[in-house]
Amino acid sequence: MPFRVPKQDTASWYDFKVLMFGPRMSASGTRARINFKDDVLEVNGPGIWITVLVDQVTLRPGGYDGRQWMLTWVSEEGTLSALLTGESDLRMMASLAPASIARQIEAGLKTDRSRHWRFRLLAGLIVAGVLLPCLLVLLFWINSERFAGWVAAHVGVREETRLGELAFAQLRPSLRLVEGGPALGAVREIGERLTVGSRYRYHWYLADSPEVNAFALPGGYVVVYTGLLRAADSAGELAGVLAHEAQHVELRHSLKNLIHDLGWRAVLAAALGDYSGGVWADMAHRLGTLKYGRDLEREADRLGMEALVRAGIDPQGMATFFARLAAREGASIALLSTHPASEERMRTLRQASTQHGRYAYRPLPYDWRVIRARLPAIAPP
Ligand SMILES: [Zn+2]
Repeated sequence: MPFRVPKQDTASWYDFKVLMFGPRMSASGTRARINFKDDVLEVNGPGIWITVLVDQVTLRPGGYDGRQWMLTWVSEEGTLSALLTGESDLRMMASLAPASIARQIEAGLKTDRSRHWRFRLLAGLIVAGVLLPCLLVLLFWINSERFAGWVAAHVGVREETRLGELAFAQLRPSLRLVEGGPALGAVREIGERLTVGSRYRYHWYLADSPEVNAFALPGGYVVVYTGLLRAADSAGELAGVLAHEAQHVELRHSLKNLIHDLGWRAVLAAALGDYSGGVWADMAHRLGTLKYGRDLEREADRLGMEALVRAGIDPQGMATFFARLAAREGASIALLSTHPASEERMRTLRQASTQHGRYAYRPLPYDWRVIRARLPAIAPP
């Protein structure tokens, strides 16, 4: 029989709600109340009245998740446990219980906190170790050239051409296009000759600007600045630039670059058929300054040179033009900022042009001096 003492006046005592477990008690626990009176722990409940010396009581973690606490002791009938619920109850008990229990409660609260922290740390590590890399990979993928390449590969020539048309329409107001004259004629004729059999219908434009620059938009929109014609020594040099730019279209570098640069916004806008939004306006002033990266430049150089040879145009011009621009020290040349004339690039261009130079090329049928002389007067800055 448990040690029992006669029931006393409990009015001044504080009761803690518990679930009692032990011999001859419900497996799901029996509701009861416990309180402390000096060195005695008293349990009251339906059909239960138990007292035990607190020295014999131990505090341990309990409940299904080990996040609750129970007071246990061994009686003559077996082990009895009183499961407490709620941390605030436990704190209250720490202040009311005799010292031996209070110490155990304090220690218990401390381990509970550290267990709590361990749980948080684990959760943090899961987030950092699993979710964050996934997120980074996703972000990287969205921003990567590979993603741009993937999107570009899924865009049909018609959509690509539409995109180029839109881009050019945005850009057009800021360009002073040359409407006629021998220079525009040469640009068009040489350009057509270099792109015979292409799946794109090219549009060749000459814009009046002192900038030494040229660029290509998706779908075959190529713009050459009069500044570039002034800097070129021959039609062969112009042909070299056009051959190179056309390769950026043929190889879809322009499309990839545009998608890469504008990212999701462009893809989304294009997917939704929204060609009116700010995305395109934003794009317009970037088009002439988009860089392709070394690998794509190398590819455009190599295939551009082959296109020149196929068109029966001496490929020397491509190498001499970039070499001469590179030699114009101090001058800021737009074309070189997007097409850096690195030592390596120049060497490769020279080697390729020497290799292709074995054939006899018929000179291009233009009087370059006349073409240059009839360019519009240099536009005011
Ligand atoms: Zn290029």
